[in-house]
Amino acid sequence: MFLCPADVNRFQLKESARLVIIYDIKCENGHIFEGWFKDRQAWIEQNAGGLVCCPVCNSSSVEIAPSSLTIMGKDSKPPRNKEGQSVSARQIMESLRRHIENNFEDVGNKFAEVALKIHAGDEKRRNIKGTTTPREETILKEEGVSFMKISLPKMDS
Ligand SMILES: [Zn+2]
Repeated sequence: MFLCPADVNRFQLKESARLVIIYDIKCENGHIFEGWFKDRQAWIEQNAGGLVCCPVCNSSSVEIAPSSLTIMGKDSKPPRNKEGQSVSARQIMESLRRHIENNFEDVGNKFAEVALKIHAGDEKRRNIKGTTTPREETILKEEGVSFMKISLPKMDS
């Protein structure tokens, strides 16, 4: 699922009381590891300062692995048992899913088209969600459109 919040920073700020952003990070040698950040700005600052290092080869030449943004609760304590963990993670994902359902207009497979129009100022800025093809994703990146790719587990069934 793709999200294009009208205001990315505000969206993250609103959630920041209980959420952190987890990026899959890839080093120049192809190792992939998880990085936890307060927000995107924290990643940018820490990466610019060479503070993000690969745990395998210690390289600080790293970048966010494509299509790997996950958001999780930062207050989720180390679980005492498996059940506690799955409940809390599920609740967090569920509340995020509800937030997205209630606050983002579903534009389906027209995501790229609408996002580009909003980006160009042809349409009112608003929160949208939808799907894209890899080709459309590349175009959005080339055009400098801010969007987030997010994976939510299916809660149905
Ligand atoms: Zn490495």
